[in-house]
Amino acid sequence: MHEKCGVVGISLEDRSAARPLYYSLYALQHRGQESAGIVTHDGFQQHSHVEMGLVGDAFDQTDLEQLNGPQGIGHVRYPTSGSVDNSCAQPFSVSFKSGSLGLSHNGNLVNTEELRDQLAEQGHAFTSDGDTEVIAHDLARNLLEEDLIRAVKHTMARIHGSYALTIMHDDTVMGVRDPQGNRPLCIGELDDGYVLASESAAIDTLDGELVRDVKPGELVVLHDDGSGYDTYQLVKTENTAHCFFEHVYFARPDSVIDEELVYEVRRELGRKLWDENGIDSDVVMPVPDSGRSFASGYAEAANEDPNAEGVEFAEGLMKNRYVGRTFIMPTQSERERAVRMKLNPIKSTVEGKTVTLIDDSIVRGTTSTQLVELMRDAGAEEVHVRIGAPPIIAPCYMGIDMASREELIAADQSIEEICEEIQADSLSYLSIDSVAEALSESRTDLCLGCVTGEYPYDIDGEATDRDVDRPGIDTATPADD
Ligand code: SF4
Repeated sequence: MHEKCGVVGISLEDRSAARPLYYSLYALQHRGQESAGIVTHDGFQQHSHVEMGLVGDAFDQTDLEQLNGPQGIGHVRYPTSGSVDNSCAQPFSVSFKSGSLGLSHNGNLVNTEELRDQLAEQGHAFTSDGDTEVIAHDLARNLLEEDLIRAVKHTMARIHGSYALTIMHDDTVMGVRDPQGNRPLCIGELDDGYVLASESAAIDTLDGELVRDVKPGELVVLHDDGSGYDTYQLVKTENTAHCFFEHVYFARPDSVIDEELVYEVRRELGRKLWDENGIDSDVVMPVPDSGRSFASGYAEAANEDPNAEGVEFAEGLMKNRYVGRTFIMPTQSERERAVRMKLNPIKSTVEGKTVTLIDDSIVRGTTSTQLVELMRDAGAEEVHVRIGAPPIIAPCYMGIDMASREELIAADQSIEEICEEIQADSLSYLSIDSVAEALSESRTDLCLGCVTGEYPYDIDGEATDRDVDRPGIDTATPADD
């Protein structure tokens, strides 16, 4: 699975925002490794630096010194829509009649084509095939006729899908989350200003304090002197559609998302995994790094269970951190080799033992098959696999590239068949209800599209699990003021 994007926005009293933005992007690097960018405003004009590559490679000292001004937005990107080149790298910036606009987007619109066609007919020319440019053009158009708040509301009434945006109009920095809050965005307070970021870990990096999550459908406008912020609940929906995979897989364990510390959620998922389908074994072992918090919760619950024999928690798989991630290997055989290169078992923790391997998900099944084989080669007597999420049966249209339906091992196979394919002695996944409980959310407030095949947005050719109102893009005015 590919992570998505990370966004940040900062408004400070009078020091340059470039370095805090740069440090925040470092903290969000796990959310996107293809490009990194910062756009600042010095009160007169925008300054922009956007490069392909990791944050550490994209900026040098001179770049940061040239990014003047106490306000700015930043972005790290993994391409989820649009081309894999710098025409889609962000923040996207544009100058127009009523000022300058910068935009960082995490998520994916599902009505991009209709909007692009409509804007193109109205004379807009596009330089990329990404959805962020479409949002920027729509907003720029609205800003010619409306104040900032109405312009954002008007654009929100036309775009449909998943988005957490940081926006800079001249020197005003804003953040907005889609009406169902699919992607995370939070507000942090610094000594001399405020920050908006995809994850609270970015705020921690700046020695700031997490204030709260941006609410679904809410616009947060940071004061341009760093003194505070104003909020506007522009759209309200009955139910949210938080992406549960943020807590399961994407976000940093030290981030708090929608009021839940990711690390604690993952441990709770591990505990529930034991409660639902625990199996006595000699050793419980996480698949590094993703399975670690799940495995510690699972082992803790197993050792507290009076009916269980007790297990040893062991870090028996060592990771070579210098091997590329499996998804950048283009062929199946290269992906298989990458798993072997990346993970190596410590024989003494495995030999002659029954082992339970814990991971967060199975996508194609390639890694799981290889890991079970590794364990057996290292002398494991039995290998059981426990997964801290439900089976992924359908693709994601909201900004996660998790392989096509045909590639997903659970799309058309039962758990028994998957168990056989990965050659494990047993295999269990966590139920959707347990995931919802661990996140302290009701099922109806989560996006569960990839595990149910029913989505919280109106997506062509797919089923939906709720009454979704796809905005009419022909509407010339927002629903109401
Ligand atoms: S489909 Fe899955 S990965 Fe995509 S937003 Fe929904 S829960 Fe998250």
